[in-house]
Parts: sequence; structure tokens; C-alpha cells
Amino acid sequence: MAATVLDGNKIAAQIKAEVAEEVQKLGAAGIRPGLAVILAGHNPASEIYVRNKVKSCEQLGMLSENLTPPDSVTTAELLQMVNELNNRDEIDGILVQLPLPPQVDSKKVLLAVSPEKDVDGFHPVNVGNLSTQRPGLVPCTPAGVIEILRRSNIAIEGRNAVVIGRSDIVGKPVAMLLLNNNATVTVCHSKTKNIAQIARQADILVAAIGKAGFVTEEFIKPGAAVIDVGINKITDRAQFEKFFAGDPAREKSFAEKGSTLVGDVDPHVAAVAGAISPVPGGVGPLTIAMLMANTVKACKMRRGPERQARS
Ligand code: NAP
Repeated sequence: MAATVLDGNKIAAQIKAEVAEEVQKLGAAGIRPGLAVILAGHNPASEIYVRNKVKSCEQLGMLSENLTPPDSVTTAELLQMVNELNNRDEIDGILVQLPLPPQVDSKKVLLAVSPEKDVDGFHPVNVGNLSTQRPGLVPCTPAGVIEILRRSNIAIEGRNAVVIGRSDIVGKPVAMLLLNNNATVTVCHSKTKNIAQIARQADILVAAIGKAGFVTEEFIKPGAAVIDVGINKITDRAQFEKFFAGDPAREKSFAEKGSTLVGDVDPHVAAVAGAISPVPGGVGPLTIAMLMANTVKACKMRRGPERQARS
């Protein structure tokens, strides 16, 4: 039987509707959550991401501000920009779009973002909060992975989860969230031996590697839930055939655009898995939805009505 396809667009729309409701409630108390995005230089992919983030803020009734320093921006100038945003009360979330221009010390800039406005959840304070199960801001894509599982009624507690990839922005926080949700977690990486064999133990398999179709049928325990975080653009006809031969919709878009997106999971895995998140339309839409949710969370934690009542 073919796997259930986990519809990320539908889940993201649910989350955004909940966020819009929260924004309305805050509005009634005279508070409007605000997100500032710093987009340095001209990177076409980053420009698209930022445009989508700003659009989502506006759709949900939040304040959004887009700062666009030139390619030549220095670390000192970015630090000053971040400090100004840290000090502005109406800005709840600060997102520094990566990658920054090569002359900039990215780590220094990310570290300057106030942890309470760190809606990307990359600041060491928030990393520490996550690993010690304290309230804080959780990275958006990993939080999205958990929301897909939770809202698709896929149990996490007591199950074997395998995460392939150990980056600071995806693999490690996903593993920590699964652990916090009482899964038994194994993390694999480029030095892991017998990955397919380890992955076959997983009831929940998360792939965050950055290699097109890396996870094949031999990695999958029959009936497992497979969450594909990878986004890889393919342009090669032979590679396209390997993954999508006989798929008329993909064929049409590949012919039109000369490229298509594939995850880190070979789509043929759907024949063995119980549930699978597609690419595109799986984890991707959740990332923006969770950014919106994080901005409202940051707003409520710092200046929400409950917070004001306590102080
Ligand atoms: P990354 O920083 O490049 O990390 C990749 C991880 O995969 C590393 O831990 C690496 O191991 C591991 N890896 C690489 N080759 C491997 C192999 N042959 N076998 C086992 N493990 C291997 O990438 P990332 O930022 O985590 O992103 C991963 C993927 O997710 C990318 O396709 C990215 O585009 C996508 N992504 C999607 C979203 C979204 O919104 N959907 C958001 C972020 C990222 P080592 O640590 O040993 O090098």
C-alpha cells in the first residue's frame, strides 16, 4: 500500500490561522507583533524567502520591517543594526537572513540578537533552553517537523526515531525535540557506518542531509513515518528519470522550467513507508508558519497581556 502523503501546506495553513487568531487577540489589547528581517546584499534565493516571510506577516496582521543593507555591509554596521532592533519595543522578532556577505562575521552578528527576539532559535541561550527543556524560542524547521508529526497523529513517545544529519540548524534541534517528546533517538552523519541498517530501525525517520534522494527503500522499515527536510534542485535529465519517470505532473514542470525539486528521500520510498512528507509541499511551508508562530510567542513572552499583568 502506498504511504500517506503528509500535506505540509494544509498543516501550515492551520498554524497560520491559529497565529492570525492570536494576533487578533493581542490587537484587542493594543499590541501588534512585529518581525524585522535583515537581508544583506543580493542573493536571489534569499530575496524570495524574505519576500514570502514579509508577505506572511502582512497576511496575518503583524508588523514587518525589511532592512536591506548593501553587499558591502560590514560586521560593525550589522551589529549596530541588530542593536537598534534589540532596543525597539515594537520589534518582537529579529531574523538575520543567511548567508551573509563573506566579509561579515556571521556568528558575531547572530550572537548579537537578543535571545528573547531570536525567532530563528539559533542563539546559544535558546539552544540551551531547548536542551534543558526551558521555555524559549525553537528553530523553525525543526519545530515544523514536530508539528507535522503531531498534527498527523503520528505518535512520538516510546518510538525509535533516527535523524540523518547533525547540523546546528536542523539535525541537532530535531533530535533534541524528538528526545524531549520521549522518542529514543539515534543521530547519523557522514561518518556513520551502516546508515541504512540503522535507519531501518526507525519508526520515525528524519532526513536532513542535502543530498538528492539519498534515502532509498532499503533505509525504510515498512510502515515508518518519513519526514524529508531536504531541498535539492535537479536539472539533469538522467537524475530526473531516476526519481520521477512516469510522473506526468513532474514531467510537465521539468519540461517547462528545466529543473525540479527533490528531497533527501527518493520518492520510491513511498512504496514501503507508512507516511511521507513530500518535497515540495512538506516541511518547507511549515518553516514560515513556525516563524510566524515564534514571532507571536516572542511578543507574548516579552510584552503580552499576561506578562504585563504579572509585572
Ligand atoms: P548541512 O548543514 O549541510 O548538514 C548536512 C548534514 O548531513 C551534516 O550533518 C552531514 O554530516 C550530513 N551528511 C552529509 N552527507 C552525508 C552522508 N553521505 N551520510 C550521512 N550524513 C551525511 O545541511 P542542513 O542545513 O542541515 O540542511 C539539510 C537539508 O535540509 C538541505 O537540503 C537543506 O536545503 C534543507 N533545509 C530545508 C529547510 C526547509 O525549510 N525545508 C530548512 C533548512 C534546511 P557531517 O556533520 O558529518 O558533515
